[in-house]
Amino acid sequence: MIEENLNRIKSELPSGVKLVAVSKFHPMEAILEAYQAGQTVFGENRPQELAGKAVQLPQDIEWHFLGHLQTNKLKMVLPYATLVQSVDSVHLLQAIDNWGFNNDKIISVLLELHIGAEETKQGFHEEEILDILFHADDYKNIRFCGLMGMASHTDDQEVINADFERIDTFMAYLVDLFPELTDFNQLSIGMSDDWPIAVRHGSTMVRIGTAIFGAREY
Ligand SMILES: *Cc1c(COP(=O)(O)O)cnc(C)c1O
Repeated sequence: MIEENLNRIKSELPSGVKLVAVSKFHPMEAILEAYQAGQTVFGENRPQELAGKAVQLPQDIEWHFLGHLQTNKLKMVLPYATLVQSVDSVHLLQAIDNWGFNNDKIISVLLELHIGAEETKQGFHEEEILDILFHADDYKNIRFCGLMGMASHTDDQEVINADFERIDTFMAYLVDLFPELTDFNQLSIGMSDDWPIAVRHGSTMVRIGTAIFGAREY
């Protein structure tokens, strides 16, 4: 089933859009099944789960971290994650930069933009992201690779459309404003239910869990 799901999604996904298979809460056998079907990029949202899977599964897997990250958990994530998609505070950004300095590593990150309607949703506001990028030079061990966003949790296509349009427009504005940030070119939008809409709004990376692995059991 996992292989069929992957093949169907890949056949519909425009080339050039990266597929991150979100494997959180799913067992290693499920990840191996996807890996054997050719999938090599996986996303996790809990530090301990990522570390555990990363040490046991094939070493050529590319791991992305996409959950809320506490600064005392960096050592479980940063040795393994190729991309931290979910940076949502300056405090966290500074801690990642410090970790990178101490471990002689440049850490690739996306800044999470708050686009959904939910009050509780994490992420920066536009002004905060502008402020960070104007001071990008202060973060010597961070590579700013782009934005991540999650649309409102709704079936209303118009609302989702508007959320993605907003982040796409802001992304274009930033790329224009900061030409010196040559790696700032990734727009991570789109999940199982809304990725076709995200792709129409410039997504370069979709994060798909349920549509590949089935429902998660919490
Ligand atoms: C869980 C999760 C996903 C995947 O969600 P699905 O609806 O299962 O595709 C994508 N992005 C983030 C940040 C997530 O936490």
